[in-house]
Amino acid sequence: MSARNDLTQARLHWRTRLIAANLHPPSGFHALAPAVHRGSTVVFDRLAEAVDDWQQKDRYTYGLYGTPTTLELGLRIAALDQSYHCFVAPGGQAALALVNLAYCRAGSHVLIPESAYGPTVEMGEDLLGGLGIHVERYHPLIGAGIVAMIRPDTSLIWCESPGSITMEVQDVPAIAAAARTRGVAVALDNTYAAGVLFDAFAHGVDISVQALTKYVGGHSDLLLGAVSVAHEGAYAAVGRAYRLMGMAVSPDDCAMAIRGLQTLGVRLDRLEQSTLEVARWLQARPEVATVLHPALPDCPGHAIWTRDFTGSASVFSIVLADDWTAERTARFVDGLRLFRIGFSWGGATSLVMAYPDLARLDGRRERLVRLNVGLEEPVDLIEDLGQALERA
Ligand SMILES: *Cc1c(COP(=O)(O)O)cnc(C)c1O
Repeated sequence: MSARNDLTQARLHWRTRLIAANLHPPSGFHALAPAVHRGSTVVFDRLAEAVDDWQQKDRYTYGLYGTPTTLELGLRIAALDQSYHCFVAPGGQAALALVNLAYCRAGSHVLIPESAYGPTVEMGEDLLGGLGIHVERYHPLIGAGIVAMIRPDTSLIWCESPGSITMEVQDVPAIAAAARTRGVAVALDNTYAAGVLFDAFAHGVDISVQALTKYVGGHSDLLLGAVSVAHEGAYAAVGRAYRLMGMAVSPDDCAMAIRGLQTLGVRLDRLEQSTLEVARWLQARPEVATVLHPALPDCPGHAIWTRDFTGSASVFSIVLADDWTAERTARFVDGLRLFRIGFSWGGATSLVMAYPDLARLDGRRERLVRLNVGLEEPVDLIEDLGQALERA
């Protein structure tokens, strides 16, 4: 123990001893669960060691740049998705914002798919637009055709596969290959795949983002995001923005996410099976026109899913038959008992949401319903869907 820790032995006032006494790092306690290390200030033994450098991977400098718990989560995700490094952000949306600010300047041009997560589209139009960044949307099934949209000032291309709500599976390898010929970075929102069902880096992506809120958390009780980077260049770009934006994360939430990682494999397997069972049942129902599930043939980009993914997840959409009105769709949603009405997905509870006001759904918006299958027995979920369809 250093001389500074011996302060507790000195003849100090009890108020001073209250403060100086808590520097006892645990040793010899080898629990399987990660310790929750809280800390903003990190103290140094000598002034010369007090380096405020976020890139010092082998030491701690300030809680904002990592505690043993927050860095442990990042290390485990990086080991899982085989990235160069993983930055942990306060949520999925924060992770998306971090990548935008790392790569864009006034005058930058950014391409995002029409099927992107709603708040990321709004971020582009509102905040980024206000900073003089031009965000342009492209058709999610554009594939290699993206090359025609790349301009000299294009600084970032976003992919999200499958797309939010409409579930288009993108040809990410073709987009990444086109971007590489023009030296443009490609970032992927890989939340659906939980960072594991689609190997972002083997398919040429520079930055893979996921909302840990969904499958890694897995229990609807935390908000966190991850930004995994493929190489040193992306590490330097994202790391700089990470530090300057002050992306603090809670060590408690990180410990919960580490716990979630331990059961991610079994949960994803079970969710895939249950979801396919429910989706196939819906496919056979006369009330349902289309099932938008990447593993089923009606989903746009299904062949790409078969080529590039190693599994499917728990979220998918259905389009009800042509004669369904918004009122009837709402009666169906309201009539469900086990599927709870709520945003987000990836937790233990089945969820349902409709989007009657979402303009990009054009002719389908009155009839499109998104479902997230949870860990209930599929037989009960199917019965619930059956009774709600009949009552509607
Ligand atoms: C939920 C979600 C996000 C945002 O994650 P939060 O943790 O809720 O901020 C981003 N992208 C996708 C595809 C999502 O589903």
